[in-house]
Amino acid sequence: MANLRLDNISRQFEDVTAIENITFEVPDGQFWVLVGPSGCGKSTILRTIAGLELITEGNLYIGDVLVNSVPARQRDVAMVFQNYALYPHMTVAQNLSFGLRMRKAHRATIEQKVEMVARSLDIYHLLERKPKQLSGGQQQRVALGRAIVREPKVFLLDEPLSNLDAQLRDDTRAELKELHQRVGITTIYVTHDQVEAMTLADQIVVLEHGCIQQIGAPQDIYAKPANRMVASFLGSPPMNVFLATYTNEVFEVGSQFFSCPSTLQEKLQLVSGQTVDLGIRPEHLKIIDLINSESSKQVSLQNQLTMLVKVVEPLGRETLVRGILPKSDVLLNLQAPSNWRGCPGDLIGVQVDLEKLFVFDSTSGKALYPISNK
Ligand code: ADP
Ligand code: MG
Repeated sequence: MANLRLDNISRQFEDVTAIENITFEVPDGQFWVLVGPSGCGKSTILRTIAGLELITEGNLYIGDVLVNSVPARQRDVAMVFQNYALYPHMTVAQNLSFGLRMRKAHRATIEQKVEMVARSLDIYHLLERKPKQLSGGQQQRVALGRAIVREPKVFLLDEPLSNLDAQLRDDTRAELKELHQRVGITTIYVTHDQVEAMTLADQIVVLEHGCIQQIGAPQDIYAKPANRMVASFLGSPPMNVFLATYTNEVFEVGSQFFSCPSTLQEKLQLVSGQTVDLGIRPEHLKIIDLINSESSKQVSLQNQLTMLVKVVEPLGRETLVRGILPKSDVLLNLQAPSNWRGCPGDLIGVQVDLEKLFVFDSTSGKALYPISNK
């Protein structure tokens, strides 16, 4: 096992900068998740660590050894891809032992390690099967086992659950977490799925356009996102973000008004006419009543908005309500209790938990409040 350090790493493909000035250090044994939208450079970072991609600039250290020019097979890292790439003509046992056999390990050692890994991944009963006789989840466990059995210094996983259906994905995700808690190999896990990032990571690295947007523990990033991109990316359903104009202690949003809390005003010293992006997570909005269109104008309390319901999605445990502020293009999503019975076309009153507002610079997207002190 080893720690892993990326020091200002960039990778250029002719005119495309896939990743730029990537710097982070993963302590020995930790589980880090790289997350971001498709094309943000996640796989490039992973392939760089694996030695499958050249580094244009910067330094890469595995366990304090500079490995920029060390070939992939000598780096002692194991990588698992989205498509499991098992050897189809080999049994599970042969797939698991392949790396050890290539390295001419003793037969008894191989058998012992294969058995241990197979038992821990619950594939011991499948050892004599061929990959095509396995389900997707079982194949993925074999792919993981094949990587683990080599006891690499660093374990790299590139969207390993993407090909599994929902239930299996959830189960395998939990198994992966449990497995890591048991074996403790330094792991970098790549995903575009923020739920995987939040649930698995010791630390999350959020990427966009090849650059790091924020690094932090899941709860810290969720509570104090560094900017609008991070704020909207983490959380499901995503944070509501809308443009607001500040005037005399109130915010105007889509022709409606609500109070700017005095704590916010003290911190930000907003001036009249200033526009900011406000953010509010769906869980911090509450439906207060159903109102008909005639009385809609009466709802002008300090922490309330009127919303026109567009789509109602019952999810079982709760109901997702999507709508807009009437006569505007401001979208609002919120979670209602499962027994809520609203319909598209309803006008509803929505209470905003003003203490939970996020404020972003409307141009740069940088967080103005709350601010992470890291
Ligand atoms: P992600 O895994 O986050 O979806 P990638 O790391 O695969 O993103 O790609 C990041 C960027 O680099 C993309 O714009 C992609 O098109 C570009 N890129 C990746 N590999 C190559 C390559 N071999 N040649 C040219 N451009 C590439
Ligand atoms: Mg990728």
